[in-house]
Amino acid sequence: MVANEKLFSLAREYMPGGVNSPVRAFKAVETPPIVVKRGFGPYIEDVEGNRYVDFLMSWGPLILGHAHPRVVEEVEKAVKSGLSFGITNPYEIEIAREVVNALPSAQKVRFVNSGTEAVMSAIRLARGVTGRKYIVKFEGCYHGHYDSVLVSAGSGVATLSIPGTPGIPEEIARLTFVLPYNDSQALKNLFEEKGEEIAAVIVEPVAGNMGVVPPEGEFLKTLREVTQKYGALLIFDEVITGFRLAYGGAQEYFGINADLTTLGKIVGGGMPVGAYAGSKTLMGNVAPEGNIYQAGTLSGNPVAMAAGLATLKVLKETNPYKDLEKKTAYLTGEISKLLTDRGIPHTVNRIGSMFTVFFTEGEVKNYSDAQRSDLKLFARFFQKLLKNGVLIPPSQFEAWFLSTAHDDKVLTEALERIERGIREL
Ligand SMILES: *Cc1c(COP(=O)(O)O)cnc(C)c1O
Repeated sequence: MVANEKLFSLAREYMPGGVNSPVRAFKAVETPPIVVKRGFGPYIEDVEGNRYVDFLMSWGPLILGHAHPRVVEEVEKAVKSGLSFGITNPYEIEIAREVVNALPSAQKVRFVNSGTEAVMSAIRLARGVTGRKYIVKFEGCYHGHYDSVLVSAGSGVATLSIPGTPGIPEEIARLTFVLPYNDSQALKNLFEEKGEEIAAVIVEPVAGNMGVVPPEGEFLKTLREVTQKYGALLIFDEVITGFRLAYGGAQEYFGINADLTTLGKIVGGGMPVGAYAGSKTLMGNVAPEGNIYQAGTLSGNPVAMAAGLATLKVLKETNPYKDLEKKTAYLTGEISKLLTDRGIPHTVNRIGSMFTVFFTEGEVKNYSDAQRSDLKLFARFFQKLLKNGVLIPPSQFEAWFLSTAHDDKVLTEALERIERGIREL
């Protein structure tokens, strides 16, 4: 048996499905999973020494590529001074100030340990301050695995075709209204009927977890206006888009402010970090300032904060967003040409440095459009790319990411490999 297979069968003995997060099992692409030994810049290497150009980038956090020297250096420095104190440390304060300055709508922020936790806490805060119990989410948006938002969710839930999930009581699921993404009218209709009882609308300002689906014209503006009119809070889940679309996230990119913002992924620079942020007034309701409880033994962990802070500093100093966008536009244009040359129906959705190649000809504006993709073809595409040394997300319903480490030379190499893969389809 080869090393990947051997190790993964051992993994399967001790962990459900051999993994600690479902999509890593590569089930949707009917491919034996790889086991990763290391990552450097735009590449990862499996335990057999196979090298892949990486467009998964740990599902989004690694906007500077793997093991960026500045991030590694800051983490090493932090590690030597202790791994955790459970008491405030200077890294937390500095990164909190950085996040507040970056986000147009934030004056205070609370750090937690994952995007899931950030969303859970933001929803609790929204319910606490409004005294209302209903929330609204959009079909195909993924906000982590917290009960209230695991209804009609994207990402792994979409990949594995799990409609909701057992273990979530009906009474809890019933407190979540689910609407189609990009459907302003459906939102208006729901609020006309139930608006006074809705605590919050949570949305991915650019959907990344049904594959990339950007918001249409007035969608985000309508969300802003309708929630304001009825006294509900608007939560932008910027776990992917924060520090990705722009330094100030989707809010800077689209010029629309949310009431609460959830962050994760990039803000942790590859370490387990989440955060939620908002105005002084709203965040003043969080304990110990207010009476809405939320806590964490490892929250604000010095090593994690050091990784996040170093990442934000490099982003701020280098402002790579225009360049990332240009490179991503080039890459997606070339992939599209290669597929067109082979007569393969597809649609590429891209915004900034996040994109998805859907195997459907029609426009993809919501989850049901995304589901029209040819998933069998996607699976073969994934397999051929992997075989030729390119790693993309192991599911149609995920975003591909570019990092600053993907320079022109890497893109040329990747396109040669992708061309070979497509030829073998
Ligand atoms: C990844 C993701 C989450 C969940 O974050 P975890 O750190 O995996 O818990 C929440 N919301 C969005 C938009 C995400 O992409």
